Amino acid sequence: MAQPGGFAQTRPAFKHLCICAALLIACATAPMAQPLGELKTGQIRGEYVPPKNPKHRYIHERLMQKRVLERLSEFLAPIKLPRELPIKLEGCNGEVNAFYENGIVSVCYEYIDYIYENAPRKAVPQGLTAQDAVIGPTVDVFLHEIGHGVFDLLQIPVFGREEDAADMFAAYLQLQFAPKEARILMLGNAFLGRVESQQAMAKSLKLKNFANEHGLPAQRYFNSLCLAYGADPVLFADAVTRWHLPAERAEQCAGEYMQIARAFEKLIHPHVDMDLMAVVRSKDWLRFEPQSAAR
Ligand SMILES: [Zn+2]
Repeated sequence: MAQPGGFAQTRPAFKHLCICAALLIACATAPMAQPLGELKTGQIRGEYVPPKNPKHRYIHERLMQKRVLERLSEFLAPIKLPRELPIKLEGCNGEVNAFYENGIVSVCYEYIDYIYENAPRKAVPQGLTAQDAVIGPTVDVFLHEIGHGVFDLLQIPVFGREEDAADMFAAYLQLQFAPKEARILMLGNAFLGRVESQQAMAKSLKLKNFANEHGLPAQRYFNSLCLAYGADPVLFADAVTRWHLPAERAEQCAGEYMQIARAFEKLIHPHVDMDLMAVVRSKDWLRFEPQSAAR
């Protein structure tokens, strides 16, 4: 039986052991900050890897014709990085996915195909064309993965889940486009987000679904809408009236947008060439020929 005295003697030793162990774990798991080295603009390079599946040829041709990767590279050129960040459009053997791995952003043809499949065949009452419903999620998925890449290459500290931070990085950047373009992007994202939310809710959620490193589709949908409404409650007034952002969340959205804007200013802006940024911001990025989203 443990003696009260004996227990008292063991506590300090046990506590000391815990601190040592905690420090060791911290040392072992916390990435060591390395000097970033020379930072250069224009480090994001796109590559259209030919699709393995002939079904995806239309995506390869269409995105090349619209110069989607070139436009993204140019739009993000002001961010100074220590090395090149390749962004690839490639086949993933049937996997509907996008990821940042080994210093490379990959967006699968399968994911873009999934965006096309879920786009409406004609304009929807929310003022969204079939093409808008494709442009928004396509830009969003690249920016989300590029966000992971930028956090990694610039050693940006992230409080909380990196998946949420990458979502906010992507949404914030889309809100920096000219108002008309920002609306096309954000409403396109809202359309797919709502489809995904409805699909997810139609299945019965299991406990493990809540453990995913990503938020649930409906949470990501409302987070994105909230950021848009917070950025400009007049331009995105329909986030509340048509896209069902609850009024009680809408009240907080200006604050949520300011939080992301502050993080961007503190953590990303020191690595941005502001002269080049001014040039980028003066351009019209989404000028495409009118085209149906149908394949
Ligand atoms: Zn991610």
